[in-house]
Amino acid sequence: MRAAHQLRCTGCGQVTPPEEIAGDFRCAACGELFAVEYPGWAGAAPPNPGALRWLWKERRSSLAAADQSGVWRFRELLPIVQEHEIVTLREGNTPLYHLTQNAERLALPELYAKHQGMNPTASFKDTGMTAALSVAKARGFRWVACASTGNTSAAMAAYAARAGMRSLVLVPDGKIAWSKLAQSMDYGALTLQLKTDFDGCVAVLREVVRRAPVYLLNSVNPYRVEGQKTPAMEIVEALDWQAPEHVIVPGGNLANISALGKGFAEMHALGLLPVLPKLSVIQAEGANPLVRTMHEFSGEKLEPVEAQTRATAIRIGNPASWKKAVAVLRATGGTVEQVSEAEIALAKARLGAEGIGCEPASAVTLAGLEKMLIAGKVQRGERVVLLLTGHTLKDADYTIAYHRGELLRADEVAGPEQAALAQAIRDSRRDAVACEANVDAVLRLLHARDGGTA
Ligand SMILES: *Cc1c(COP(=O)(O)O)cnc(C)c1O
Ligand SMILES: [Zn+2]
Repeated sequence: MRAAHQLRCTGCGQVTPPEEIAGDFRCAACGELFAVEYPGWAGAAPPNPGALRWLWKERRSSLAAADQSGVWRFRELLPIVQEHEIVTLREGNTPLYHLTQNAERLALPELYAKHQGMNPTASFKDTGMTAALSVAKARGFRWVACASTGNTSAAMAAYAARAGMRSLVLVPDGKIAWSKLAQSMDYGALTLQLKTDFDGCVAVLREVVRRAPVYLLNSVNPYRVEGQKTPAMEIVEALDWQAPEHVIVPGGNLANISALGKGFAEMHALGLLPVLPKLSVIQAEGANPLVRTMHEFSGEKLEPVEAQTRATAIRIGNPASWKKAVAVLRATGGTVEQVSEAEIALAKARLGAEGIGCEPASAVTLAGLEKMLIAGKVQRGERVVLLLTGHTLKDADYTIAYHRGELLRADEVAGPEQAALAQAIRDSRRDAVACEANVDAVLRLLHARDGGTA
């Protein structure tokens, strides 16, 4: 069984044949985004939940490339692509870690992290890229392109290279982490650094794809969303087909929350999941357009902001998928929170200290969870999954600056109400220490760190 699909406009509801859509992936009638839907599921023979669970698990021991992909092993819920056209780096199948130290600190025993940084190019973008790039290849495109805060371009460049296709990357000059720029060079993309921000890069690229036969791989592309929904299946599978009560996701362009919402909703509709988890979005205070949309405009309107945060992956002021995200928040009863630069940095260190390295944009989830606990939006007995979106090595400069005490300005943790936060940050730092090359010097430092008891 494979799913025949169609594209429906999320604004005016019009259905368009998939072959007719490319360009900037916006509805010609109303300008909104498309979503993939599968009319066959409502027909005579919808997929059988028990058979699907068995099949998806069985594929993990297969030798076939498509089966070894943690995206394509769920292909009953994905658009049809011929097997030889699938471009895969064996993405997905990422771990769901049970957090212990942070669980104990927060008195929240059922706390998990779904680590999407454990993908081939070290961010969740790979799950969407395998799907959308396979479609681009099947449709005969030679060039693919994206505007990016770094991780989309790293993923796109890698998958395009695997497929023998060319890729064009537009990134904001000086505002992406070095490792991400290095990846797009390594994978042979044409990388252009534009003197603007992410939102400015998007505006330029929208015009480029209208004028040139280049396939757009930004997250407005509905096939990216299809691939990015599969971590929802993996989370539920790893919990033995029980839904967690909460899934907490960082918010940038807001495609990831939209995709996960779609994944959980489809499993619910197909009888794979008895209840929906609440999906919540956390943004950085300096890049918080969705938080403002929900608090000031009840989800009805988005005012773009000029985005400022060191968590560069979510430094986005005018998110393309905000309407889809609002729909997910409403459908699941989730919430929005914003967190400060200091809170993000401390949360990242606290995840790192239990062996779970992630990039700053991912750490907003733990910082946001702490606020949700205080506000009574999460109860102690509930199961909570933090979506960690990228690997710690994506932004090593950030980590080093933090532990050297060079990341945060004094005014970012000032005032009596921030005293506890400032202390926690000092306690969490583990700077490298200069040491003479002899045994006594090493032992002296070891004893000092161990309270003199070792
Ligand atoms: C892309 C990205 C995000 C934001 O995801 P959106 O779908 O744009 O909301 C968050 N964290 C990391 C590491 C990312 O690469
Ligand atoms: Zn429309």
